[in-house]
Amino acid sequence: MPHTGHILHGRYAVVSCHVERPLDDQVWKRFSALQERRPGGFAIAALMRLPAAGEDEARWLERARQARARGPFGLHTHWTAPDHARPTGGADPAELVREQGGWLDSVGLEATLFCGGGWYFDERVAEAVADLGYADCTATAFRPAYLAPEAPHLQLAEPAWLELAGERRLLELPTTHSIGMLARGLFARSSAQRIVHAYFHDTDLLDRRRSAALRLGLGVLGRRRTASDLDELQHGLRPEKTMSFANQRA
Ligand SMILES: [Zn+2]
Repeated sequence: MPHTGHILHGRYAVVSCHVERPLDDQVWKRFSALQERRPGGFAIAALMRLPAAGEDEARWLERARQARARGPFGLHTHWTAPDHARPTGGADPAELVREQGGWLDSVGLEATLFCGGGWYFDERVAEAVADLGYADCTATAFRPAYLAPEAPHLQLAEPAWLELAGERRLLELPTTHSIGMLARGLFARSSAQRIVHAYFHDTDLLDRRRSAALRLGLGVLGRRRTASDLDELQHGLRPEKTMSFANQRA
């Protein structure tokens, strides 16, 4: 487990997957195989979308438990629909996060991480995530191209503590690289960030080229940096930076 000294001077990398379609047999087979194989030495975190109405809950649970046994495990909330991640309409985004975290608890699935669908993040969602005891991965080092300038989102290059109301604080472990960014960086100078957090979607694994780029990218990443995982960072990392959520929202 990396302790503070190692983290401060070392160069770590972690990997997460937004598991969007765990009930699709093809997608699940590919994700399972990849998580099992640990490309680059990485224990890939499964950030799972919960079953929606009409989806097979028993099968979902069976698969979630398999993912939980293979690596870090977290909640990936899609607020509107399985294929529509960000919130729409009047419902309270934070309330759904609390509800979904409570459901995971009630079925005995211990989650340690949160990532908001479509990178949606606001202060009340951050409070809900802190109350659930998770670390958060919703901040991104990059600005997602599809977001409108005023869309709620948190941009951060390095891990930090987010100060919240009621003397709560949340460990933020930003997502820093997509598959495309990893692939473009393969032959470039290595990233200056101390912690690289690469992510992909389970559905990317259906695309032969994206899947090959991911495996290649993770292989190179694992040779350039010490492979860690999001649970290990959560236990061992104590960021120097503390910031107020309100002042940092990008
Ligand atoms: Zn998603």
